[in-house]
Amino acid sequence: MNLLKRKFTKFIGISLISSIFPFNLLIAATKKILNPNLSKQQKTIMFKEGTERPFTSELLHEKRKGFYHCANCGNKLFASTAKFDSGTGWPSFSEALPGAFKTKIDYSFGRERVEYHCAKCGAHHGHVFNDGPKESGKRFCNNGLCLIFKPE
Ligand SMILES: [Zn+2]
Repeated sequence: MNLLKRKFTKFIGISLISSIFPFNLLIAATKKILNPNLSKQQKTIMFKEGTERPFTSELLHEKRKGFYHCANCGNKLFASTAKFDSGTGWPSFSEALPGAFKTKIDYSFGRERVEYHCAKCGAHHGHVFNDGPKESGKRFCNNGLCLIFKPE
């Protein structure tokens, strides 16, 4: 009983912290459309936490050297060296560039997932999981439509 109570308190605590505490306010304050050419679908993903259909991104097969930038603000997010084929249907990366993102716990669909947003413009990009194959152990599962690849 006590354990249940403690788990519940912890859950509520985390929910409160992640849903009320500064992150959302911060994101709300920083979230802004900076690229007037974003498509309707890009806006849905980036500002309404949408997800593109898997295996639809042209970036899935991108293997050139370079950097991936935020499609909204141009912030540099991933190096091509971190990209790997996860088989999930979304561009996947083992690590982000330092300071590229801010994270938040997402409780939708009854699961606890870590969602990440561009640190510069607040746009939603994807979710990060702890089952990555490389040294970092991370798998950044990113919507391809949120990214612009610039080859070196
Ligand atoms: Zn951005």
